[in-house]
Amino acid sequence: MNAPIPQPLLFHPRGGNGDLAAKLRRAVAGAVLFDVASRGRYATDASIYQVDPIGVLIPTSDDDVRAALDVCRDSKTPVLPRGAGSSQCGQTVGSALVIDHSKHLNRVLEFDADAQTVTVEPGVVLDQLNAWLKPHGVWFPVDVSTSAQATLGGMAGNNSCGSRSIAYGNMVHNVHAIDALLSDGTEARFGPAAASSSASPRVRELLARLRAIGERERHEIEQRVPKLLRRVGGYNIDVFHPQSERPYTADGSINYAHLLVGSEGTLAWTRRLTLNVAPLPRHRTLGVVNFPTLHRAMDCARHIVALTPSAVELVDRTMIDLARGNPAFRPVIDGALSGEPEAILLVEFTHEDPAVSARGLDDLVALIADLGLPDRVVRMPNAAAQKALWDVRKAGLNIMMSMRGDGKPVSFIEDCAVPLEHLADYVDRLTNVFRRHGTRGTWYAHASVGTLHVRPILDMRRDGAVKMRAIAEEASAIVREYKGAFSGEHGDGLVRSEWVGWQFGPRLTRAFEEIKDAFDPAGLMNPGKIVHPTRMDEASLFRFRPGYTTLPLETALDWSAFDVQNDPVAATLTAPGTGGDTAHGFGKAVEMCNNNGHCRKFDAGTMCPSYRVTRDEEHLTRGRANTLRLALSGQLGADFASEPVRAALAMCVSCKGCRRDCPTGVDMAKMKIEFQYHWQRAHGLPLKDRLIAHLPRLAPWAAAVPWLANLREALPGMKRLTERWTGLSARRSLPRWRRDTFLRQSAPATDACADAVLFIDTFTNYFEPENAHAALAVLRAAGYRVHVARAAAGDAESNRPLCCGRTYLTAGLVDDAKREAQRVVAALAPHVARGAAIVGLEPACLLSLRDEFLVMGLGEAAAKLADRAFLIEEFLAREHAAGRLRLPLSPLPQAHALLHGHCHQKAFDAVSPALAVLSMIPGLTVEPIESSCCGMAGSFGYEAEHYDVSMRMAELSLLPAVRGSGADTLIVADGTSCRHQIRDGTRPTGAREALHVVRVLERALTANGGSEPTSGRAKAGA
Ligand SMILES: Cc1cc2nc3c(=O)[nH]c(=O)nc-3n(C[C@H](O)[C@H](O)[C@H](O)COP(=O)(O)OP(=O)(O)OC[C@H]3O[C@@H](n4cnc5c(N)ncnc54)[C@H](O)[C@@H]3O)c2cc1C
Ligand code: SF4
Ligand code: SF4
Repeated sequence: MNAPIPQPLLFHPRGGNGDLAAKLRRAVAGAVLFDVASRGRYATDASIYQVDPIGVLIPTSDDDVRAALDVCRDSKTPVLPRGAGSSQCGQTVGSALVIDHSKHLNRVLEFDADAQTVTVEPGVVLDQLNAWLKPHGVWFPVDVSTSAQATLGGMAGNNSCGSRSIAYGNMVHNVHAIDALLSDGTEARFGPAAASSSASPRVRELLARLRAIGERERHEIEQRVPKLLRRVGGYNIDVFHPQSERPYTADGSINYAHLLVGSEGTLAWTRRLTLNVAPLPRHRTLGVVNFPTLHRAMDCARHIVALTPSAVELVDRTMIDLARGNPAFRPVIDGALSGEPEAILLVEFTHEDPAVSARGLDDLVALIADLGLPDRVVRMPNAAAQKALWDVRKAGLNIMMSMRGDGKPVSFIEDCAVPLEHLADYVDRLTNVFRRHGTRGTWYAHASVGTLHVRPILDMRRDGAVKMRAIAEEASAIVREYKGAFSGEHGDGLVRSEWVGWQFGPRLTRAFEEIKDAFDPAGLMNPGKIVHPTRMDEASLFRFRPGYTTLPLETALDWSAFDVQNDPVAATLTAPGTGGDTAHGFGKAVEMCNNNGHCRKFDAGTMCPSYRVTRDEEHLTRGRANTLRLALSGQLGADFASEPVRAALAMCVSCKGCRRDCPTGVDMAKMKIEFQYHWQRAHGLPLKDRLIAHLPRLAPWAAAVPWLANLREALPGMKRLTERWTGLSARRSLPRWRRDTFLRQSAPATDACADAVLFIDTFTNYFEPENAHAALAVLRAAGYRVHVARAAAGDAESNRPLCCGRTYLTAGLVDDAKREAQRVVAALAPHVARGAAIVGLEPACLLSLRDEFLVMGLGEAAAKLADRAFLIEEFLAREHAAGRLRLPLSPLPQAHALLHGHCHQKAFDAVSPALAVLSMIPGLTVEPIESSCCGMAGSFGYEAEHYDVSMRMAELSLLPAVRGSGADTLIVADGTSCRHQIRDGTRPTGAREALHVVRVLERALTANGGSEPTSGRAKAGA
């Protein structure tokens, strides 16, 4: 073993934290965060550990880092570099000044087409780099599962490896040079040995010392370093005498940068990386082999590898089942299955010549048949289908982590690598080890290179630590027997540094200490990792340590589905509400965040818009979940409803993006409602929030005297004045109140037999009644009998229109929201009972019937309503699919439409129905805008304090797409706030009006001749 230090390393800067913070603030331009909540948000990564950092620096430049290193050297403060913080072993937690370079140091600096290299700052994210490289026909091929968030600095720090490492190698095989800053202030370029002659004397001396250590230890290196591609533990001392199956350099020469790769921030701070790029694979094809047993899959891997695929990846039954439970993944995984396999292998062939990659797939089919499994390969030649399946595989670990209860899959032997011929036996033996310890593992693997990802399910609050050590010891004995590597992918960090001595022996361990000393004599760089480790089972370092408790909290919403415990062996859950959570399941829902950082992704999906514009950990789903967890466990003080939580949630636009995109199902929009409930009870609500919340009650009055209600828009100076009174931005227009509300115009409904019941929300009724008229016209044109929903006869406010209560939920007035929901459930129950469809127009309103209504304790009637509630496009698309829709549509003057999906539409998969119904209009091509939240998000964009952020969100992709479209392109958006944002945001360049889907359909109704409807005010009746 690597002589673990029994107690955690805790550092106290000379002069104290306050003195350090003050000195840093004077020395740097970037943000210096020393408050308890910020430190708490940086106390965890994707491991089981939690250690409070001394403070956090968000540098704006290299100069900031240089200055911070000077300050830290003087005060003897350790330094911990950090990218996305997605490490699984605790590499990025520690008692140190954390330097998070991901916000500002993220530029691609130079592409050298001749040398086929690219130079980047450490905070560049892999997906971002590959998008940048794509036009050059190349990519950086270390395709880690966390490609959407992992930074190149972090990937080099961990010597990361991708699914296709069999074809391209690990980071160490792909880094050409590293420009680094040493803790003593030295700047140096580490790269090919031949280029090091011009280095400074300090660096030349360092390199000579390293070479001497390498020479001295030649024999030990040959004896001790596993001869595998996937070996990631310790320092890469074998750069001097390579042991990897794949050469580190083409000509076998030394590259000093390779010593820094995998050094986990313990040797130097990486300022820039020069990376080797590879030609973009031109033709990929994929075969999914379905196996009756996991053993069989593992046993076949070595035969499959002989076909020279570019990837062979395992997904086991547990993960298949978990993926099928996720609405986004289910259709994808179903498309890859043949029968009910216990395991599947994803086998990819890549080549310049499509015929060669196609032949690879044919050979695979033949091989698998020869191995006694005919017809068990699902062919996937289609690129989009391949990508979708790879995305499921990449989300594999997160999917596993979506398990509820305190027992969680724990990473500590997660990436042992063994030679392929032993893979099947290794799986069997390890399964037995788990069984003996009363647990079970879920498997997925880079089968091509013998790296098996397995996480036994352990409860770290109870006996997890004891079992962890016992399993690690037994697993390590098996790995040693097979001459494997204990760490084949994720590195050492806190969980495995003590195993460095076990893997490499005492002599190389001492050599590692010498290497550390040569780079960092003061021991300031990320102490306690790789050398001088703490124990893996040091309980005081656990995030959920024994005795972990949460504050008692009476929740407003029903979180009981999370308040469960799991039985790892039987794979069962206890009944809702029995998990022992003092916050009735809210605590456990918050703890579902495992810190993997997927919410940091930048693609055009929905999660997480506020992070995308601020790039602050505080304004990220993960940062919010961590803040809530810290508050609920009393780590931010005795009050749950505290200012740090309010601040962290303030910019959450409740888009529900995380509800859909977060692989472990963190639903921050719902958590925000819960928090807001406690906050308003403790602190009250400002006037603005009260005005907006009570909109459903104020609306009838405002609509009675619209001239008065609209005065703010009409009188000069009123906007400024009301901004001061109410906090509503003077830069915003407000929706116009109208007397001709839909429900006032339409006759009372009487058709008790209608096929469709129109649920008209507050916004549609008061501000855009023409949308409701259009819906009525479209449904009737299609031959449906339509009933317009109104309050039930026994309703105490039977004259007031129904409302879903969304505005109350936003303000945290859950009791009021519940009253509105009860009215809706009561009014619609008879129609639901006879099987009518409840059809609505506004996504945020209608979809609350399928979401929040289910956690307000409204009983079975709410569940039944949820099953029958549809957005109008969902209803029409379903009817069309069932062959029942007869909608007479004619071509429009416009041939092209752009569709912006409302966030809740995206979260509930309701964008494709909108595309589908628009595509029914003859001659109309419809294109979705690759946009995230429009930035308006209910009242968020109207608030003066959020106006700028709101506009920045809109400017990310929505507004540029709208402006870039021709005047003859229809802009379609179903959200009332989205339409408002589009109008406001395009006003300076000529306002564009967006239409609800139903208005476009109405225009295309044959009766309207495919033009502007002459009667947008057709009387609605029964
Ligand atoms: C769900 C999940 C799936 C994963 N899949 C993979 C996978 O397929 N393959 C794989 O290899 N890993 C995987 N990982 C682990 C992790 O995502 C990768 O190691 C990733 O490359 C880390 O990038 P990061 O930006 O998060 O680095 P961080 O975690 O922030 O940092 C990683 C290490 O690098 C050091 N470091 C960061 N920046 C610098 C710098 N500028 N100078 C010096 N040192 C620095 C840090 O101190 C730390 O020790 C996975 C993790 C999760 C949670
Ligand atoms: S919120 Fe979800 S996506 Fe973000 S880190 Fe937590 S688990 Fe991952
Ligand atoms: S609801 Fe939207 S803004 Fe809020 S955390 Fe989730 S993704 Fe981010």
